[in-house]
Amino acid sequence: MGPVTPTPWDLTGRVTANEPVSTGLLRLDVALPRTVGFRPGQFAMLNLTGPGQLVFRRPFSIFAADGETMSFLYRVVGRGTALMAALREGDAVDCLGPLGRPFLRPDADTPPALVLAGGVGLPPLHAWAEAHKRPDDLICFGGRDGGDVPWSLLDDRWHVSVDRADGVPPGRQAHEGLVTGLATELLAAYDGPRLVLACGPTPLLRAAAKLARDRGWPCEVSLEEHMGCGYGVCKGCVVPVLSDDLAGWRNATSCEEGPVFDAATLDWDRLGASHGGVA
Ligand SMILES: Cc1cc2nc3c(=O)[nH]c(=O)nc-3n(C[C@H](O)[C@H](O)[C@H](O)COP(=O)(O)OP(=O)(O)OC[C@H]3O[C@@H](n4cnc5c(N)ncnc54)[C@H](O)[C@@H]3O)c2cc1C
Repeated sequence: MGPVTPTPWDLTGRVTANEPVSTGLLRLDVALPRTVGFRPGQFAMLNLTGPGQLVFRRPFSIFAADGETMSFLYRVVGRGTALMAALREGDAVDCLGPLGRPFLRPDADTPPALVLAGGVGLPPLHAWAEAHKRPDDLICFGGRDGGDVPWSLLDDRWHVSVDRADGVPPGRQAHEGLVTGLATELLAAYDGPRLVLACGPTPLLRAAAKLARDRGWPCEVSLEEHMGCGYGVCKGCVVPVLSDDLAGWRNATSCEEGPVFDAATLDWDRLGASHGGVA
Protein backbone atom coordinates (compact mmCIF):
# COMPACT_ATOMS: atom_id res chain seq x y z
CA MET A 1 0.00 0.00 0.00
CA GLY A 2 1.24 3.52 -0.78
CA PRO A 3 1.58 6.31 1.76
CA VAL A 4 -1.63 7.72 3.17
CA THR A 5 -2.26 11.45 3.08
CA PRO A 6 -2.61 13.72 4.99
CA THR A 7 0.44 13.83 7.27
CA PRO A 8 -0.10 12.25 10.69
CA TRP A 9 -0.23 14.51 13.74
CA ASP A 10 0.26 13.92 17.48
CA LEU A 11 -1.54 16.73 19.22
CA THR A 12 -3.14 17.60 22.54
CA GLY A 13 -6.61 19.04 22.12
CA ARG A 14 -9.35 20.38 24.37
CA VAL A 15 -12.85 18.97 24.64
CA THR A 16 -15.48 21.37 23.28
CA ALA A 17 -18.47 18.99 23.57
CA ASN A 18 -19.14 15.47 24.83
CA GLU A 19 -22.84 14.68 24.52
CA PRO A 20 -25.09 11.67 23.83
CA VAL A 21 -26.47 11.53 20.29
CA SER A 22 -28.58 8.44 21.05
CA THR A 23 -29.10 6.07 23.99
CA GLY A 24 -25.94 4.16 23.03
CA LEU A 25 -23.65 6.66 21.31
CA LEU A 26 -21.85 9.80 22.46
CA ARG A 27 -20.19 12.45 20.33
CA LEU A 28 -16.84 13.87 21.42
CA ASP A 29 -15.62 17.11 19.79
CA VAL A 30 -12.00 18.06 20.36
CA ALA A 31 -10.43 21.39 19.35
CA LEU A 32 -6.85 20.77 18.21
CA PRO A 33 -4.10 23.39 18.01
CA ARG A 34 -4.21 23.39 14.21
CA THR A 35 -6.32 22.38 11.25
CA VAL A 36 -6.16 18.64 10.59
CA GLY A 37 -7.31 16.43 7.75
CA PHE A 38 -8.20 12.78 7.33
CA ARG A 39 -9.68 10.37 4.82
CA PRO A 40 -12.89 8.49 5.70
CA GLY A 41 -12.05 5.16 7.32
CA GLN A 42 -8.93 6.47 9.05
CA PHE A 43 -8.75 6.53 12.82
CA ALA A 44 -7.03 8.30 15.71
CA MET A 45 -5.56 6.91 18.91
CA LEU A 46 -6.99 8.82 21.90
CA ASN A 47 -5.91 9.11 25.52
CA LEU A 48 -6.31 11.31 28.55
CA THR A 49 -3.33 13.42 29.53
CA GLY A 50 -1.63 13.50 32.96
CA PRO A 51 -2.84 11.44 35.95
CA GLY A 52 -5.38 8.80 34.94
CA GLN A 53 -3.80 8.40 31.51
CA LEU A 54 -4.30 4.90 30.08
CA VAL A 55 -1.20 2.82 29.33
CA PHE A 56 -2.49 2.26 25.79
CA ARG A 57 -4.32 4.84 23.74
CA ARG A 58 -7.65 3.64 22.32
CA PRO A 59 -8.50 3.64 18.59
CA PHE A 60 -11.54 5.57 17.29
CA SER A 61 -12.64 6.21 13.73
CA ILE A 62 -12.64 9.85 12.79
CA PHE A 63 -16.25 10.93 12.37
CA ALA A 64 -15.65 14.46 11.09
CA ALA A 65 -13.07 17.25 10.96
CA ASP A 66 -14.17 20.83 10.69
CA GLY A 67 -11.18 23.17 10.70
CA GLU A 68 -9.41 22.55 13.98
CA THR A 69 -12.23 20.49 15.50
CA MET A 70 -12.15 16.72 15.22
CA SER A 71 -15.20 14.64 16.16
CA PHE A 72 -15.70 11.06 17.26
CA LEU A 73 -18.73 8.88 18.03
CA TYR A 74 -18.30 6.20 20.65
CA ARG A 75 -20.06 3.65 22.81
CA VAL A 76 -19.05 3.04 26.44
CA VAL A 77 -17.81 -0.56 26.71
CA GLY A 78 -15.01 -0.47 29.31
CA ARG A 79 -12.59 1.62 31.33
CA GLY A 80 -11.24 3.84 28.57
CA THR A 81 -14.58 4.74 27.07
CA ALA A 82 -16.06 5.30 30.58
CA LEU A 83 -13.23 7.78 31.22
CA MET A 84 -14.00 9.39 27.86
CA ALA A 85 -17.67 9.76 28.81
CA ALA A 86 -16.63 11.66 31.95
CA LEU A 87 -14.62 14.26 29.99
CA ARG A 88 -15.90 17.83 30.39
CA GLU A 89 -15.50 20.94 28.26
CA GLY A 90 -11.90 22.15 28.44
CA ASP A 91 -10.40 18.79 29.46
CA ALA A 92 -7.27 17.76 27.56
CA VAL A 93 -7.22 14.81 25.10
CA ASP A 94 -4.17 13.33 23.47
CA CYS A 95 -4.80 12.53 19.75
CA LEU A 96 -2.54 10.65 17.33
CA GLY A 97 -3.75 10.35 13.75
CA PRO A 98 -4.86 10.06 11.08
CA LEU A 99 -3.82 6.41 10.97
CA GLY A 100 -4.58 3.45 8.74
CA ARG A 101 -5.84 2.70 5.28
CA PRO A 102 -9.05 4.60 4.39
CA PHE A 103 -12.07 3.50 2.38
CA LEU A 104 -11.75 3.74 -1.38
CA ARG A 105 -12.19 7.19 -2.91
CA PRO A 106 -14.70 6.67 -5.76
CA ASP A 107 -14.01 7.86 -9.28
CA ALA A 108 -16.17 8.00 -12.40
CA ASP A 109 -15.80 4.21 -12.94
CA THR A 110 -16.78 3.23 -9.39
CA PRO A 111 -20.26 1.66 -9.25
CA PRO A 112 -22.83 3.14 -6.85
CA ALA A 113 -22.17 2.10 -3.27
CA LEU A 114 -24.13 -0.03 -0.87
CA VAL A 115 -23.07 1.31 2.53
CA LEU A 116 -23.77 -0.88 5.57
CA ALA A 117 -23.01 0.67 8.96
CA GLY A 118 -23.93 -1.12 12.17
CA GLY A 119 -23.80 0.57 15.61
CA VAL A 120 -20.37 2.09 16.27
CA GLY A 121 -19.51 1.27 12.66
CA LEU A 122 -21.32 4.50 11.77
CA PRO A 123 -18.51 7.12 12.07
CA PRO A 124 -16.20 6.11 9.17
CA LEU A 125 -19.07 5.44 6.78
CA HIS A 126 -20.92 8.60 7.74
CA ALA A 127 -17.67 10.45 6.94
CA TRP A 128 -17.48 8.61 3.59
CA ALA A 129 -21.11 9.41 2.75
CA GLU A 130 -20.53 13.09 3.60
CA ALA A 131 -17.37 13.22 1.48
CA HIS A 132 -18.92 11.53 -1.56
CA LYS A 133 -22.51 12.65 -2.11
CA ARG A 134 -23.42 10.45 -5.07
CA PRO A 135 -27.14 10.25 -5.83
CA ASP A 136 -27.33 6.49 -6.56
CA ASP A 137 -25.59 5.27 -3.41
CA LEU A 138 -27.70 3.21 -1.00
CA ILE A 139 -26.74 4.16 2.55
CA CYS A 140 -27.94 2.06 5.50
CA PHE A 141 -27.52 2.18 9.26
CA GLY A 142 -28.57 -0.58 11.65
CA GLY A 143 -29.21 0.09 15.35
CA ARG A 144 -30.54 -1.91 18.28
CA ASP A 145 -33.82 0.04 18.59
CA GLY A 146 -35.20 3.48 17.78
CA GLY A 147 -33.46 5.08 20.77
CA ASP A 148 -30.08 3.71 19.69
CA VAL A 149 -30.26 5.51 16.31
CA PRO A 150 -28.61 8.98 16.19
CA TRP A 151 -31.45 10.43 14.11
CA SER A 152 -30.09 13.99 14.19
CA LEU A 153 -26.96 12.83 12.32
CA LEU A 154 -28.80 10.93 9.59
CA ASP A 155 -30.23 12.94 6.70
CA ASP A 156 -32.87 11.56 4.35
CA ARG A 157 -30.29 9.63 2.30
CA TRP A 158 -29.99 7.19 5.19
CA HIS A 159 -32.13 4.04 5.34
CA VAL A 160 -32.44 2.77 8.90
CA SER A 161 -33.04 -0.68 10.35
CA VAL A 162 -33.61 -1.58 14.00
CA ASP A 163 -33.61 -4.93 15.78
CA ARG A 164 -36.66 -3.73 17.75
CA ALA A 165 -39.01 -1.00 16.49
CA ASP A 166 -39.68 0.67 19.88
CA GLY A 167 -38.41 4.23 20.19
CA VAL A 168 -38.57 5.14 16.50
CA PRO A 169 -39.61 8.85 16.57
CA PRO A 170 -42.78 10.00 14.79
CA GLY A 171 -42.08 10.92 11.18
CA ARG A 172 -39.02 8.65 10.89
CA GLN A 173 -39.07 5.22 9.29
CA ALA A 174 -37.14 2.11 10.19
CA HIS A 175 -37.09 -1.39 8.76
CA GLU A 176 -37.49 -3.96 11.56
CA GLY A 177 -34.76 -6.58 11.32
CA LEU A 178 -31.12 -6.80 10.35
CA VAL A 179 -29.47 -4.13 8.24
CA THR A 180 -28.57 -6.84 5.70
CA GLY A 181 -32.33 -7.59 5.38
CA LEU A 182 -32.91 -3.91 4.64
CA ALA A 183 -30.10 -4.07 2.06
CA THR A 184 -31.67 -7.08 0.35
CA GLU A 185 -34.98 -5.22 0.04
CA LEU A 186 -33.28 -2.14 -1.37
CA LEU A 187 -31.20 -4.16 -3.84
CA ALA A 188 -34.40 -5.75 -5.18
CA ALA A 189 -35.67 -2.25 -5.98
CA TYR A 190 -32.42 -0.76 -7.33
CA ASP A 191 -30.71 -2.93 -9.94
CA GLY A 192 -27.06 -3.06 -11.00
CA PRO A 193 -23.59 -3.73 -9.60
CA ARG A 194 -22.45 -2.00 -6.43
CA LEU A 195 -19.38 -1.27 -4.36
CA VAL A 196 -20.18 -2.66 -0.90
CA LEU A 197 -18.70 -0.81 2.10
CA ALA A 198 -19.27 -2.10 5.63
CA CYS A 199 -18.28 -1.34 9.21
CA GLY A 200 -19.80 -2.74 12.37
CA PRO A 201 -20.08 -6.06 14.21
CA THR A 202 -18.19 -8.90 12.55
CA PRO A 203 -21.34 -10.87 11.60
CA LEU A 204 -22.39 -7.80 9.58
CA LEU A 205 -18.97 -7.66 7.90
CA ARG A 206 -19.17 -11.36 7.05
CA ALA A 207 -22.67 -10.94 5.63
CA ALA A 208 -21.57 -7.91 3.58
CA ALA A 209 -18.55 -9.81 2.23
CA LYS A 210 -20.73 -12.77 1.28
CA LEU A 211 -23.39 -10.59 -0.34
CA ALA A 212 -20.66 -8.99 -2.51
CA ARG A 213 -18.84 -12.26 -3.22
CA ASP A 214 -22.06 -14.00 -4.34
CA ARG A 215 -22.64 -11.22 -6.88
CA GLY A 216 -19.02 -10.66 -7.93
CA TRP A 217 -19.07 -7.12 -6.55
CA PRO A 218 -16.12 -5.32 -4.88
CA CYS A 219 -16.34 -4.98 -1.11
CA GLU A 220 -14.34 -3.16 1.54
CA VAL A 221 -14.80 -3.80 5.26
CA SER A 222 -13.36 -1.94 8.23
CA LEU A 223 -12.21 -4.22 11.06
CA GLU A 224 -12.28 -2.76 14.55
CA GLU A 225 -9.65 -5.02 16.12
CA HIS A 226 -8.24 -4.56 19.60
CA MET A 227 -5.15 -2.37 19.14
CA GLY A 228 -2.13 -1.49 21.26
CA CYS A 229 -0.07 1.11 19.43
CA GLY A 230 -2.00 1.92 16.24
CA TYR A 231 1.06 2.12 13.97
CA GLY A 232 2.34 -1.40 13.40
CA VAL A 233 4.86 -1.92 16.20
CA CYS A 234 3.05 -4.08 18.78
CA LYS A 235 1.41 -6.52 16.31
CA GLY A 236 -1.56 -6.73 18.70
CA CYS A 237 -4.13 -6.27 15.94
CA VAL A 238 -3.05 -8.79 13.32
CA VAL A 239 -5.66 -10.45 11.11
CA PRO A 240 -5.20 -13.33 8.64
CA VAL A 241 -5.14 -12.36 4.97
CA LEU A 242 -4.81 -14.66 1.98
CA SER A 243 -1.34 -14.71 0.43
CA ASP A 244 0.79 -16.46 -2.19
CA ASP A 245 3.04 -17.78 0.60
CA LEU A 246 3.37 -21.53 0.96
CA ALA A 247 0.93 -21.44 3.88
CA GLY A 248 -1.65 -19.59 1.78
CA TRP A 249 -2.13 -16.90 4.40
CA ARG A 250 -0.20 -14.41 6.51
CA ASN A 251 -0.85 -12.01 9.37
CA ALA A 252 -1.53 -8.39 8.45
CA THR A 253 -1.57 -5.55 10.97
CA SER A 254 -5.04 -4.09 11.06
CA CYS A 255 -3.69 -0.66 12.04
CA GLU A 256 -1.34 -0.31 9.04
CA GLU A 257 -2.70 -2.57 6.29
CA GLY A 258 -6.24 -1.83 7.53
CA PRO A 259 -8.48 -1.09 9.26
CA VAL A 260 -10.16 -1.04 5.84
CA PHE A 261 -9.50 -4.25 3.90
CA ASP A 262 -10.61 -5.52 0.53
CA ALA A 263 -13.00 -8.23 1.80
CA ALA A 264 -11.72 -10.68 -0.84
CA THR A 265 -8.20 -10.57 0.66
CA LEU A 266 -9.27 -11.57 4.20
CA ASP A 267 -9.00 -15.20 5.25
CA TRP A 268 -12.54 -15.34 6.67
CA ASP A 269 -12.25 -18.99 7.77
CA ARG A 270 -9.13 -18.26 9.80
CA LEU A 271 -10.70 -15.16 11.37
CA GLY A 272 -12.45 -17.80 13.47
CA ALA A 273 -15.23 -18.02 15.99
CA SER A 274 -14.13 -14.93 17.95
CA HIS A 275 -15.08 -12.97 14.85
CA GLY A 276 -18.59 -14.35 14.55
CA GLY A 277 -18.06 -17.81 13.08
CA VAL A 278 -17.33 -18.91 9.57
CA ALA A 279 -19.27 -17.19 6.78
C1 LIG B 1 -9.79 1.21 13.81
C2 LIG B 1 -10.79 1.22 14.96
C3 LIG B 1 -11.80 2.15 14.98
C4 LIG B 1 -12.71 2.17 16.02
N1 LIG B 1 -13.66 3.13 16.02
C5 LIG B 1 -14.54 3.19 17.03
C6 LIG B 1 -15.53 4.21 17.04
O1 LIG B 1 -15.60 5.06 16.14
N2 LIG B 1 -16.38 4.25 18.10
C7 LIG B 1 -16.32 3.32 19.12
O2 LIG B 1 -17.11 3.39 20.06
N3 LIG B 1 -15.40 2.34 19.12
C8 LIG B 1 -14.50 2.26 18.11
N4 LIG B 1 -13.54 1.29 18.13
C9 LIG B 1 -13.50 0.34 19.27
C10 LIG B 1 -12.84 1.06 20.46
O3 LIG B 1 -11.47 1.23 20.18
C11 LIG B 1 -13.02 0.22 21.72
O4 LIG B 1 -14.40 0.19 22.06
C12 LIG B 1 -12.25 0.83 22.87
O5 LIG B 1 -10.86 0.69 22.64
C13 LIG B 1 -12.62 0.15 24.16
O6 LIG B 1 -11.83 0.72 25.17
P1 LIG B 1 -12.25 0.54 26.70
O7 LIG B 1 -11.05 0.88 27.53
O8 LIG B 1 -13.51 1.28 26.99
O9 LIG B 1 -12.60 -0.96 26.79
P2 LIG B 1 -11.70 -2.12 27.43
O10 LIG B 1 -11.77 -1.96 28.92
O11 LIG B 1 -10.37 -2.14 26.79
O12 LIG B 1 -12.54 -3.36 26.98
C14 LIG B 1 -13.89 -3.50 27.43
C15 LIG B 1 -14.52 -4.65 26.69
O13 LIG B 1 -14.62 -4.34 25.30
C16 LIG B 1 -13.90 -5.30 24.56
N5 LIG B 1 -13.23 -4.56 23.48
C17 LIG B 1 -12.30 -3.59 23.59
N6 LIG B 1 -11.90 -3.16 22.38
C18 LIG B 1 -12.60 -3.90 21.48
C19 LIG B 1 -12.61 -3.97 20.07
N7 LIG B 1 -11.86 -3.19 19.29
N8 LIG B 1 -13.43 -4.88 19.50
C20 LIG B 1 -14.20 -5.68 20.23
N9 LIG B 1 -14.23 -5.66 21.57
C21 LIG B 1 -13.44 -4.79 22.19
C22 LIG B 1 -12.92 -5.93 25.51
O14 LIG B 1 -12.60 -7.25 25.13
C23 LIG B 1 -13.72 -5.93 26.79
O15 LIG B 1 -14.63 -7.00 26.79
C24 LIG B 1 -12.62 1.23 17.09
C25 LIG B 1 -11.60 0.28 17.07
C26 LIG B 1 -10.71 0.28 16.02
C27 LIG B 1 -9.59 -0.72 16.00
